[in-house]
Amino acid sequence: MSRSKIWLSSPHMSGIEESYVKEAFNTNWIAPLGPNVDGFESDINEYLDGQVSTAALISGTAAIHLALHILGVGSGDIVIVQSFTFCGTTNPVSYLGAEIVFIDSEEKTWNMCPDALEEALKNLNVKSVKAIIPVHLYGMPAQMDKIQKIANRYGVPLIEDAAEALGSTFQGKKCGTFGDIAALSFNGNKIITTSGGGALVSRNSNYTSKARFLATQARDEALHYQHSEIGYNYRMSNVVAGIGRGQMKVLDERVAQRRANNQIYRSFFADVPGVRFQNEPTEDYFSNYWLTAILVDPILNKGITREDVRLALWAENIESRPLWKPMHMQPVYKGKKYYGTGVCEKLFEQGLCLPSGSNLNQQDFERIFQVLTKIFKN
Ligand SMILES: *Cc1c(COP(=O)(O)O)cnc(C)c1O
Repeated sequence: MSRSKIWLSSPHMSGIEESYVKEAFNTNWIAPLGPNVDGFESDINEYLDGQVSTAALISGTAAIHLALHILGVGSGDIVIVQSFTFCGTTNPVSYLGAEIVFIDSEEKTWNMCPDALEEALKNLNVKSVKAIIPVHLYGMPAQMDKIQKIANRYGVPLIEDAAEALGSTFQGKKCGTFGDIAALSFNGNKIITTSGGGALVSRNSNYTSKARFLATQARDEALHYQHSEIGYNYRMSNVVAGIGRGQMKVLDERVAQRRANNQIYRSFFADVPGVRFQNEPTEDYFSNYWLTAILVDPILNKGITREDVRLALWAENIESRPLWKPMHMQPVYKGKKYYGTGVCEKLFEQGLCLPSGSNLNQQDFERIFQVLTKIFKN
């Protein structure tokens, strides 16, 4: 029996990537900037809705950092962030010395709870609130209509963390087009990858040009490298952008494959009432199902916990992972303000991400279900 490792979410190349990377080598464009970067950016613009512009960067975290910088976030300012997320969302707020206020999730999407957001804005000094960052966790769109309305009412810009949600839509619009600025990630485990990379996306081309400027050390237009402000070295290289161009060609296919995985897990668990899924609440929501996430309630499962499931899979060399530990529960953010009722704490306690790569094959699923059958169907 094959015991090779089944990963949570591993890179899935199409074969097209190599021709773009080779072209970079053949033309000696082994540099930040170049035709692959331009091509990758325009592929993303076109994919999202043709109305946005994109700056390709070294990571999604860099995109959020630049977004905050561009919106003028500095020390003493407040940034409101969904607590249930990966540290790439929150770290940049700390880089800039701003204060983080955390918002709970709602049951329905597992993302930012609009009511808790509203409560926070009512209680905080709104003049100090410089940005709100909702996240589309595991590809599930947040309730962007409500969140946008609230943000507009209080006059606070939205940074949309769409790192996990390329290919997802809400009310027919692509995730990544809702925020004043959005961040994408092409890290190795995301739905498409450039090995490591990210992008800042906006409808406002001033923001995107500013991002390109800041990402190349904020060089003024002078041959002698003159600087009037502090910049960063965050631009994507022309070599990895070649991988991105190849990956964009199969993005829709990857979304279909991840959604098919999700369906396979749903069929398996259809007769296991103690296991619930992260669900699309209505037809407004279309998730790329980057990761399939389940909740294992021990009370409904003869005492089985999500950790039992994780360890049983691990024993068979199969990777699964608890949901993100909420940021307001992290030692590094101890004592920070948090608005909510503990919804994300409960999700964290019971939640598990199952192997979800678009390259999983039938034998992989057989191995996974062998383990899950022993646990849930005996
Ligand atoms: C991956 C991810 C990021 C950061 O992306 P990197 O490219 O790894 O820096 C940010 N937010 C969320 C929710 C992510 O999953």
